[in-house]
Amino acid sequence: MKNVDYIVVGCGLAGVHFCEQLKAHNKSFVVLDNTSQQSSVVAGGLYNPVVLKRFTSVWKSQEQLELALPIYHKLEQELNIVLDFKTPVYRRFTSVEEQNDWFTASDKPELSKYLSTTLIKNTNKAIDANFSFGKVLETGRIDTKLLIETYKKHLTKNKQLLEESFNYDALVIKDTFQYNAIAAKHIVFAEGFGVKKNKYFENLPLKEVKGELLTIYAPDLKIDYVLKSSVFLIPIGNDLYTVGATYDWKDKTNKITLEAKELLLKKLKTFLKCDFKVVHQVAGIRPTVTDRRPLVGRHKTYKNMYVLNGLGTRGVMIAPYVAKQLFNNIENNTPLERDIDIARFN
Ligand SMILES: Cc1cc2nc3c(=O)[nH]c(=O)nc-3n(C[C@H](O)[C@H](O)[C@H](O)COP(=O)(O)OP(=O)(O)OC[C@H]3O[C@@H](n4cnc5c(N)ncnc54)[C@H](O)[C@@H]3O)c2cc1C
Repeated sequence: MKNVDYIVVGCGLAGVHFCEQLKAHNKSFVVLDNTSQQSSVVAGGLYNPVVLKRFTSVWKSQEQLELALPIYHKLEQELNIVLDFKTPVYRRFTSVEEQNDWFTASDKPELSKYLSTTLIKNTNKAIDANFSFGKVLETGRIDTKLLIETYKKHLTKNKQLLEESFNYDALVIKDTFQYNAIAAKHIVFAEGFGVKKNKYFENLPLKEVKGELLTIYAPDLKIDYVLKSSVFLIPIGNDLYTVGATYDWKDKTNKITLEAKELLLKKLKTFLKCDFKVVHQVAGIRPTVTDRRPLVGRHKTYKNMYVLNGLGTRGVMIAPYVAKQLFNNIENNTPLERDIDIARFN
């Protein structure tokens, strides 16, 4: 029997950031992952403290960014990779009213440090933007695919990853948890949309929202900022750009669709005027919650059994924040914020 402090189920952003807490506090652990979910692998990876539809602040954005970025930089060192690509986001305006709304928003204390008050004129012939751009500061992209893939290799090297499905029926619950040849003091479920198959947490109000993204090759575009219009256009190097994303509340599969591709292209062509070629398409399910807050906390009956989920559309920024809160709750009895605690649904 292998004895560990924790079993972690799921190696997406939630799982990775919880493991980072465990490592930082010298806890032993084993991770199980079956790649049934793809959200963290396909994500655009943007971190952006502003909701660009409504010009409002993202929940706890400053606290989240202050915590998250140093953790990604630590991961860069540990894994010897580059994850954080700092890039401004340019919001394309479509009217003078929108420009005015932007300036009104930039006066708000919580937004003033993120919204530049200088209008940026468009000089790029490949883009149609007659009403200029507003620039969001302190934004960027985390290469989540590289992070997850490299993290899993690192866990494998340390004999901490089992690439298999967690079988919920095989878990024996006594004073500790026994799972096949593993005995653990705690178990943390971080399966994203996969939690729907988890009999211990299946009733949580998790709402799946499928998203699809395209990769295009556009050698004449030449932009080094993220462009936000009816879709995001994110430069990823070598004249390649990520275009996305769609929001589909019905389809629960990770399969790419022609409908999503056509919808993204239709939106893209409203402002992109140069030639381009679609080279790739991906799909994943975002684990979202109706009240737009994460799902974190302890099982009602089984103490030492926890869930870390509901990262929604902003896993890059939220995951480090909620992973830290869960760890401190388990190990130090620090109460969880009411907003994220699953007890709010009791
Ligand atoms: C198209 C798209 C674009 C996005 N863009 C952004 C963005 O730009 N910025 C941003 O911050 N967020 C973005 N997101 C959201 C972000 O991807 C999610 O918030 C985040 O990835 C969720 O992470 P997670 O670890 O909770 O879930 P997941 O990434 O789904 O990870 C769960 C893991 O658990 C595994 N698993 C599930 N069940 C089992 C089981 N029974 N046994 C073993 N393993 C299991 C899965 O295979 C998976 O690896 C995007 C999402 C999508 C779909």
